[in-house]
Amino acid sequence: MAKASVRDGLRALEGYHSPQVDVRVRLNTNEAPVGPPDEFRRDLAAALDSIAWNRYPDRSASALRAAIARLHGVPASMIFVANGSNEVLQTILLTFAGPGRKVATFEPTYQLHAHIARITGATVVEGERAADFSLDPTEVDRVMVNERPDVVFLCSPNTPTGGVDDPALVEKVIAAAPGLVVIDEAYGQFSSWSAVELVREDSSVVVVRTFSKTWSMAAARLGYVIAPAWLVAELDKVVLPYHLDAVKQVAGTLAVEYVDAMNARVREIVSERDRLVSAMSVLDLDVFPSGANFVLFRPRSSSGRSVWQGLLDRSVLVRDCSGWPRLADCLRVTIGTSDENTAFLAALTEVVS
Ligand SMILES: *Cc1c(COP(=O)(O)O)cnc(C)c1O
Repeated sequence: MAKASVRDGLRALEGYHSPQVDVRVRLNTNEAPVGPPDEFRRDLAAALDSIAWNRYPDRSASALRAAIARLHGVPASMIFVANGSNEVLQTILLTFAGPGRKVATFEPTYQLHAHIARITGATVVEGERAADFSLDPTEVDRVMVNERPDVVFLCSPNTPTGGVDDPALVEKVIAAAPGLVVIDEAYGQFSSWSAVELVREDSSVVVVRTFSKTWSMAAARLGYVIAPAWLVAELDKVVLPYHLDAVKQVAGTLAVEYVDAMNARVREIVSERDRLVSAMSVLDLDVFPSGANFVLFRPRSSSGRSVWQGLLDRSVLVRDCSGWPRLADCLRVTIGTSDENTAFLAALTEVVS
């Protein structure tokens, strides 16, 4: 029997990889270093008891949407929730991208924006960030005017570079974009500003958030978008019915009650990030400014790959970006617990000295 052939355009794609190795200090995937509060775990265990297992879950996840809406002070009609922000991004792209449409990114940035866009059959236009990885206004103009993209992605703080986009430039992108502007704020809580207030009913701007990084809930796979209500209604048509299971709805609704604990953890990570950046700055490295829970750095006198290996030999795992386009020799470290960060610094100092 002949082997079935996949769709044109998918053949050249590679899957998303994030290799895991068994180590003592794991600082490679930008997760929160500790789990949610104990009270949350207790409340969740009790709440699970009341799930009607024989019934489909609330299709519109109304309690969860309302809880997230309260958090941001917007109407629940402006919130769409899905299985991780990756499913949010996929739903947005199924709705606004697809064959014959253009999606613009400013590289280097989160790989899945372009990857999911290509899976929908859209053409990806890769704009370039400046040498310091900031948005370049001339390049923004070129992409908007020459390419007229249907969807534009921004990511602030950007990954894997860590920088926060200049609010004036983000507004410039929004003013110039002929279509939808998606601002991925997976690391928004660690940043000095948020684009949430730029989302308005008469605009085509949406802000995507996740529970994976700040809420210590990567295991739950929960993300959302703050968007004009008309746009949320379109996403609701596209996503599969009952895509959000009852357990996740309960877990997310409970989690936002612990917003103070979440904010305290964010403050702790930001202060650890500042400690790490100043300690790294005296080493033989280029350290890129970060508004996120990770730091991108580039060894000056050895290859990124050899430093990555040196760290791994000391049982410290960071993300090896050194082979990625535009990121030669760069490595990315996630901010961990204070002890993990200290272990990372000790290992790094040995490796680059
Ligand atoms: C981690 C990350 C995501 C994915 O989040 P999930 O909610 O876990 O799917 C989305 N965007 C960016 C920029 C990320 O870094």
